[in-house]
Amino acid sequence: MIITKKKDFTEFLNIIQNYKSLFLIGCSECAALCGTGGDPELATMKEALEKEGKTVTGTMLPKTGCQTLGTKIELKKDKEACEEAEAIIVMSCGAGTQSAVEIFPNKPVVPSNDSLFLGNMTRFQMFDERCSLCGECILDKTGGICPVTSCPKGLLNGPCGGTDNGKCEVSPDIECAWVRIYERMKKINQLDELKKPLSPKNWSANRKPATLNTREKKEEKK
Ligand code: SF4
Ligand code: SF4
Repeated sequence: MIITKKKDFTEFLNIIQNYKSLFLIGCSECAALCGTGGDPELATMKEALEKEGKTVTGTMLPKTGCQTLGTKIELKKDKEACEEAEAIIVMSCGAGTQSAVEIFPNKPVVPSNDSLFLGNMTRFQMFDERCSLCGECILDKTGGICPVTSCPKGLLNGPCGGTDNGKCEVSPDIECAWVRIYERMKKINQLDELKKPLSPKNWSANRKPATLNTREKKEEKK
């Protein structure tokens, strides 16, 4: 899931200072789980903005904010409220915000969250980064633990000389990713795999901006 955090409210008010009327869009998926864009957050944001003298013309919680077409269809019922608003506030991730940009090509769209990383929820509203979207996954070779993301140096062959009793030299708060990989591979009887050095990664696999068209493959199969 995409992990987001709310922007500081005072900073956010500064960003939207020129807009009096606003329509709020959340997201039922990642942002709802992060507590940054679900129903309760939409209600809290509406109340907070109204206290600041803003008019909230409406709120909408799409099923998946980054699914542009689906969100556009869901927003049809809110057409008038969206038209009345000077700006659209998106309480999801950067992708959800850019869905709204496509849906409202002639209206300012402002994110209320910062998008941080792709991660897992480890406990309620606690998140750890797990994947850097490198485009060429090597988890099969590292016991399912990602060194690109979990090692601050992104070492493909580790550990480095700084590992200290299972901790990372960058911070004692970080478990050394390569010690974790070693322990995991030991448990699953794959230590021999660690004797094979990993080749340098093809970083062009995560060239930006990436695109993917799975339709072409389906059409080829026909
Ligand atoms: S190897 Fe790449 S794709 Fe696989 S988890 Fe790590 S960053 Fe993500
Ligand atoms: S101590 Fe471990 S996690 Fe830290 S930089 Fe070195 S190999 Fe990576």
